Amino acid sequence: NVSVVLFTADLRLHDHPPLRAALDGSREVVPLFVRDAAVDGAGFAAPNRLAFLADCLADLDAGLRERGGRLVVREGDVVEEVCRTVTEADADEVHMAADVSAYARHREARLRRALEARGRRLLVHDTVTTVVPPGELTPAASDHFAVFTPYFRRWSEQGLRDTFGAPRRVRVPEHVGSGRLPSRADLSGLSPALPAGGETAGRKRLAAWLRSGVHAYEDRHDDLSGDATSRLSPHLHFGTLSPVELVHRARRAGGPGAEAFVRQLAWRDFHRQVLAARQDAASADYRTRHDRWRSERAARDDIEAWREGRTGYPVVDAAMRQLRHEGWMHNRGRLLTASFLTKTLYVDWRVGARHFLDLLVDGDLANNQLNWQWAAGTGTDTRPNRVLNPVAQGRRYDPDGAYVRRWVPELGALAGAAAHEPWKLRGLDRAALDYPDPVVELAEGLDRFRRARDRRT
Ligand code: FAD
Repeated sequence: NVSVVLFTADLRLHDHPPLRAALDGSREVVPLFVRDAAVDGAGFAAPNRLAFLADCLADLDAGLRERGGRLVVREGDVVEEVCRTVTEADADEVHMAADVSAYARHREARLRRALEARGRRLLVHDTVTTVVPPGELTPAASDHFAVFTPYFRRWSEQGLRDTFGAPRRVRVPEHVGSGRLPSRADLSGLSPALPAGGETAGRKRLAAWLRSGVHAYEDRHDDLSGDATSRLSPHLHFGTLSPVELVHRARRAGGPGAEAFVRQLAWRDFHRQVLAARQDAASADYRTRHDRWRSERAARDDIEAWREGRTGYPVVDAAMRQLRHEGWMHNRGRLLTASFLTKTLYVDWRVGARHFLDLLVDGDLANNQLNWQWAAGTGTDTRPNRVLNPVAQGRRYDPDGAYVRRWVPELGALAGAAAHEPWKLRGLDRAALDYPDPVVELAEGLDRFRRARDRRT
């Protein structure tokens, strides 16, 4: 008998429960990836992510070939393509990973109906894309946790399944055509310094991270110029690494750095369980606050300055330029640029979330939208009215100004923390800088935000 394994956000061979279940129960397996027309149509096919995806698929194919198999690639409507492949391979069942977005749920339901109508089964596996399945942990009076700390307490007590390695051999039915792997070469508009995708690159990065980086993580994760975080987020987004394996291995590495790192992995699960329970939170306010954001038209110039990294606030501009150049931004940068857009400029969080999704290699519906809501005060932040001051943030998390000088070369001549306040230069020195004045005074922004808050309550 034959099984199909539908790969989605789990592009790996190690610790892959759907693949293992399929290999346990079948003589032959079709490892299938469908380039889904609906995902492209919804605007989620950002070039930076497609480039990383192309690497992931090429690496998955290479890994399967080493084991006697290959990846089968199709393009079009995912349900139609899976059904077509099932017929072509004469498969009895399809295995896939559980996922949380409204789209993923809809896909699963459609697929189940279509397969059952053909007398075939769909088997959906948990703990492939999350450590703890969304919905497994609930507080007494709700279907999900709205506050991280109690969630984390329960999450930490949860027993984990054992992990396992990549299969030794994969036999794919010969008559099933392979299809065409997408290629980076077909893409344009890519950020110049994108990371390499794929399980092989991910496992290398993970090994290096656990050997050295993780030990200093607790002390250094907020240091903007130190770049002392794992940068594993694109691998977690595409599932080239197993989150369960990451937790096991980090716990084995031990120490305060590893503990702090595991806590961040729990944030990822936390946002997933929020989105699973409240699927509209991808676009609607999680907490209704009746914000009357400035219209996009009225704020057009401010939004443009923010996107391009020329707001006149050096640390904001540095972070926005890092995003455009690398398709990635430091978490502290994400927090302060999101606070700046939604609170200081009082622009709707959806405008910022969209821009991030257009560029981030790790752009992820649950993590991006819910972190944006957190920063905007419409989400799960228990202090929704706090406003981050970009000058204070810069001085604190980039005390010697190195991050600003790296990304904003116009300020390269400003030594130390002076890079955070170019307006303090006088006369000719200020005029010689090819760098804009602030788009808004911080006091004015704060005032606007407070007035809006008072109108709301
Ligand atoms: P590390 O610090 O090494 O953390 C390890 C892993 O933990 C990360 O790879 C990530 O999977 C997870 N993690 C860390 N912080 C968070 C968090 N706050 N929420 C959820 N998971 C977390 N993360 C994304 O993966 N995709 C996004 O689209 C995304 N958008 C964001 C938008 C905003 C406005 C903010 C404030 C944060 C966003 N984050 C997003 C969360 C976080 O900034 C990134 O996960 C992190 O910067 C990735 O870098 P890293 O892998 O080096 O993280």
